[in-house]
Amino acid sequence: QFDETLYLDKLSTVSQMAAAFAHEIRNPITTVRGFIQFINSDTKDENLKQFAPLILDELDRTNKIITNYLTVARPTNFTLSYIDVNKALQDSVELLRPFGSYRNVSIDLNLEGEHYIYSDEQHLKQVLMNIIKNGIEAVDEEQGGYVKIVKKPADERGQVEIIFVDNGIGMSEEQLEKLGLPYYTTKTKGTGLGSMITNRLIHEMKGKIHYESKVHNGTSVTVKLPIVIKN
Ligand code: ADP
Ligand code: MG
Repeated sequence: QFDETLYLDKLSTVSQMAAAFAHEIRNPITTVRGFIQFINSDTKDENLKQFAPLILDELDRTNKIITNYLTVARPTNFTLSYIDVNKALQDSVELLRPFGSYRNVSIDLNLEGEHYIYSDEQHLKQVLMNIIKNGIEAVDEEQGGYVKIVKKPADERGQVEIIFVDNGIGMSEEQLEKLGLPYYTTKTKGTGLGSMITNRLIHEMKGKIHYESKVHNGTSVTVKLPIVIKN
């Protein structure tokens, strides 16, 4: 049986410790990165020339993991405001459209009605972008595909529903169960932190997220968020 409160509690302890370490680790990484770049620009050593980009890539990956962790760990310093959900969706889609085109994935956005939520704008955008990005990355680059996003009118419980459908590789039951666990990734360059952050932020927004997926048939992600009336 999955105890969500206990899970989030443990997660927050781990995250706070991680945040403390992360600050300390970042400085030496930046220093090392600088030295590698300097040596690389100054050398005729073929080995070094060959491996320097790999070293830099791995350092950047380390930094990315730390940044993602810091986002999760950041103690409740969010800025609350009325957020136009349509605009947040449009902004997120526009930011990811180049990445989509590059991978042969079209992004389709269908908005019904106007909805506002009272939350942190950056957090909402991060959630939307994490989900859309996973959809894009799930699609086979050769074949191409789509991510279709539909925002439905609010239901009788005052919740707006956003559905993200992709026609990517999909997930098995086992994969669906692991989704959201820290470091669970099937990608060579993945961090396995995106969905954990998404879950955490949606919980913070008092929303819900639900995944449905079939291997080779794509995935649909449903996000429900409580809306507010903006005067
Ligand atoms: P990352 O994207 O860095 O791998 P995530 O937490 O965002 O980390 O996702 C974890 C894993 O869940 C992915 O590696 C992938 O296997 C699976 N996943 C998430 N979203 C989708 C999707 N839309 N279609 C197929 N697999 C997905
Ligand atoms: Mg991801």
